[in-house]
Amino acid sequence: MLNIVLFGPPGAGKGTQSEKIIEKYQLTHLSTGDLFRKHLGEGTELGKLARKYMDEGRLVPDEVVIGMVDDKIANTPNTNGFIFDGFPRTVAQAEALDKLMQKNNSGISVMIALEVEEEVLKQRIRERGKTSGRADDQDEEKIATRIGVYLDETLPVAGYYEKQGKLSKVNGVGTIEGIFQDICNVIDRY
Ligand code: AMP
Repeated sequence: MLNIVLFGPPGAGKGTQSEKIIEKYQLTHLSTGDLFRKHLGEGTELGKLARKYMDEGRLVPDEVVIGMVDDKIANTPNTNGFIFDGFPRTVAQAEALDKLMQKNNSGISVMIALEVEEEVLKQRIRERGKTSGRADDQDEEKIATRIGVYLDETLPVAGYYEKQGKLSKVNGVGTIEGIFQDICNVIDRY
């Protein structure tokens, strides 16, 4: 199995590149943000719980996120592998993911980290907010909170994979196709 963690700050292009990766490599897309938005739309208990964190741009508690991912993995038999998008976002989530993968006799192959500077991120999120309908894309304070949370809580996750020799950095500024090619060059080594 090919299991990829696609990593980067909000607005780095993880969603856009995930779509292209899953098409080319026939992987299962597991985006925790998308799963939460689905729960929110369906009005489930999980969605109600997640809403207050998402509205403020804060992280949903680890145990809630991990339970949801465990569920999704358990309900996806016979896959070529997963692309994890927006997960793990804390070191505790990364440790839990390793355990979940072991349980399935598998492991993380590589983390691909998209690098984009802060001003470009903010511009992209504002642009996305015009069409995404996402409240967290349309409010300067929420955008700043999400980038701050990324720097404080999520960035250490890159160090976690670096220690395992699994971190590959890709420049996330350029054309969608050019960035995708750089990502494929990394994936094709696995
Ligand atoms: P995203 O679509 O990845 O930008 O996620 C939108 C929001 O969902 C985040 O700002 C968090 O509130 C929540 N969220 C998504 N993934 C996670 C995660 N792995 N851990 C905690 N909260 C998450």
